[in-house]
Amino acid sequence: MRFVRYQRGNEPPVYGWLFEDRVGMIEGSPFGDYRRLEANLELARVRLLAPVTPGKIIAVGRNYADHAREHGAEVPELPLIFLKPPSSVIGPEDTILLPPQSHQVEHEAELAVVIGRSGRWIHPGNAADYILGYTAANDVTARDLQRLDGQWTRSKSFDTFCPLGPWIETDLDSADVMISCRVDGELRQMASTREMVFSVAELVAFVSSIMTLYPGDLILTGTPAGVGPLLPGNVVEVEIEGIGILRNPVAAASTPLEGPG
Ligand code: MG
Repeated sequence: MRFVRYQRGNEPPVYGWLFEDRVGMIEGSPFGDYRRLEANLELARVRLLAPVTPGKIIAVGRNYADHAREHGAEVPELPLIFLKPPSSVIGPEDTILLPPQSHQVEHEAELAVVIGRSGRWIHPGNAADYILGYTAANDVTARDLQRLDGQWTRSKSFDTFCPLGPWIETDLDSADVMISCRVDGELRQMASTREMVFSVAELVAFVSSIMTLYPGDLILTGTPAGVGPLLPGNVVEVEIEGIGILRNPVAAASTPLEGPG
């Protein structure tokens, strides 16, 4: 099944479900008890939002050997994790804003795991019980600031640096699906999730050995090789086989006349 979050006009955002090209409301929440109402709204007539409002976003660095190599980095012995703030989340068709502090903002197409149930010390064999589904993510990164700072918080955390969507797919076998990224139609990244260094189950187990995972938390599972620049006017698409296409335009952020940075 596909869960969406959407908005009609100025009405408050609601969760829904997708049936072909129609959307139905759900009563309750995908993270608890819910009831599906009739799918009677045309998808084209609603605005899709990020399909989840995460409490935390855990992202994984260098989880594809080819991507680690393109930065001259070793594949880590344990998952290398960092956090992105929930304030960086945007939805499908929302604009990625290039901040004035960076001259090298890059796309990173990633499979995102949506946690459905709270857990700590989750055994890899039980990880599936804690996963609601999957969505597409773009781990947008200010590469120059990442190099400059030596740690990743600033480079990964600007507003709009975590596009998510277009929906949560609950029926996906994540072991071998293609992830691709196109910028203005040009293919930049393409790989299968089978090339991941640490599997989804291993990542859920590892992260939950550190922090409790809550419903709605996200794990971004790393990006394959081929990351590259985003420029004003570009349109970037992250496509995941079995999920769909997350599309976002890119623009320069307007800068306050005076301010820090
Ligand atoms: Mg990444």
